[in-house]
Amino acid sequence: MKTSELETLIRRILSEQLAPAKAETKTHGIFSSVDEAVDAAHQAFLRYQQCPLKTRSAIISAIRDELAPQLSALAEESAAETGMGNKEDKFLKNKAALDNTPGIEDLTTTALTGDGGMVLFEYSPFGVIGAVAPSTNPTETIINNSISMLAAGNSIYFSPHPGAKAVSLKLIAAIDDIAFRSCGIRNLVVTVAEPTFEATQQMMAHPKVAVLAITGGPGIVAMGMKSGKKVIGAGAGNPPCIVDETADLVKAAEDIINGASFDYNLPCIAEKSLIVVESVAGKLIQQMQSFGALLLTPAETDRLRAVCLPEGLANKRLVGKSPSALLEAASIAVPAKAPRLLIAVVNADDPWVTREQLMPMLPVVYVPDFDRALALALKVEEGLHHTAIMHSQNVSRLNLAARSLQTSIFVKNGPSYAGIGVGGEGFTTFTIATPTGEGTTSARTFARSRRCVLTTGFSIR
Ligand code: NAD
Repeated sequence: MKTSELETLIRRILSEQLAPAKAETKTHGIFSSVDEAVDAAHQAFLRYQQCPLKTRSAIISAIRDELAPQLSALAEESAAETGMGNKEDKFLKNKAALDNTPGIEDLTTTALTGDGGMVLFEYSPFGVIGAVAPSTNPTETIINNSISMLAAGNSIYFSPHPGAKAVSLKLIAAIDDIAFRSCGIRNLVVTVAEPTFEATQQMMAHPKVAVLAITGGPGIVAMGMKSGKKVIGAGAGNPPCIVDETADLVKAAEDIINGASFDYNLPCIAEKSLIVVESVAGKLIQQMQSFGALLLTPAETDRLRAVCLPEGLANKRLVGKSPSALLEAASIAVPAKAPRLLIAVVNADDPWVTREQLMPMLPVVYVPDFDRALALALKVEEGLHHTAIMHSQNVSRLNLAARSLQTSIFVKNGPSYAGIGVGGEGFTTFTIATPTGEGTTSARTFARSRRCVLTTGFSIR
């Protein structure tokens, strides 16, 4: 058979998997049932799989160009709908996701050659990815995941959080429309009109969903792991921040305030507790106050704890609220100049320290020395393998902490968000796969690694 005849045959076999083209439906990726949405995304994947790499690049360029003017409105709507975080920081998160998520250049090919021939290792798509997005970073996760997963050649079914439904559906429809205008394929990015928890469960069980990418709390990640599918699980964290006596205290204070107050402490990577060597604790706190932190008295700390962490667990109504809103909720006077962050000196076993709380209130624990600081940080991070931050000029200690904590992200002498490419080197991601170990995800995370072997030479050495 001639090569051209073989190509025609292969195309025919592939196209037989495609359903006959239906009359144009213009759903903008939003369907009334999970089955319809997944089927449509599967059909879109089969068509997308036949496209060259330049089609993927064209879609990603168009997403970057066309979403840029919408980022500010998306940030505002996201803050308003979820009632969490603030539009200024959400804009920065959206922008980082749009500008700094890698595209197809992330899918590097590796080749091995020798007397036995040549081996190629390449990244291929999985198919339909079921992506669960959190309420804390709804639009930035959808932008980041869309670029990564489409770059890897997949189609996507999104399960947005019901609490961020309107803004998420609007964004999913916009991305699906952009992809359609770029390549003529509809339904590369889909969801359902009512993204309920039941819909998420149905999606997880759907046979045409090849892989799950879950960004959320421990419950939903654990649920995904029971599905029997491959899961890329991005779960909760509780990032400790260590400051030792060698640190540049002015820089440390500014970085910690910037990181811990970012989007009112909603990011899973944000500093959630500060562990400081006591010989420099007073100076550090003074510096933090000069950068806009409000130090609470022990009595105020107790009042705030009672409303924010009743029975030790975060009060959902106060997650992601501003420092002033937290003070008001605890009937504590709000200073004329609104604080950027609340801080309070507490014991190591305080629930402010031991629990992820996602509020702009940073508990501070004094320790006698670096060894005790590291031991406490290990306890607080509790093997989540998520994020830790450290300020120190002592390289051996920085190395020891990084090696011992084994977190997916370890930031040295910077704000936590430097770990996701904001003001630090490296690409941006809003899906940090912690329990499943992929770490900071990008296109290659959402691709199957394949090996292609030629036994008859092709080594030119
Ligand atoms: P969440 O677990 O409440 O929700 C996450 C997603 O899971 C949402 O889409 C939600 O609809 C879905 N979900 C939750 N419970 C469900 C159920 N019973 N049935 C079906 N679907 C369900 O989390 P959240 O409050 O939106 O986000 C905050 C959490 O996510 C924090 O713990 C944070 O650390 C974590 N997070 C982790 C990362 C990461 O990259 N590792 C990124 C962002 C957020």
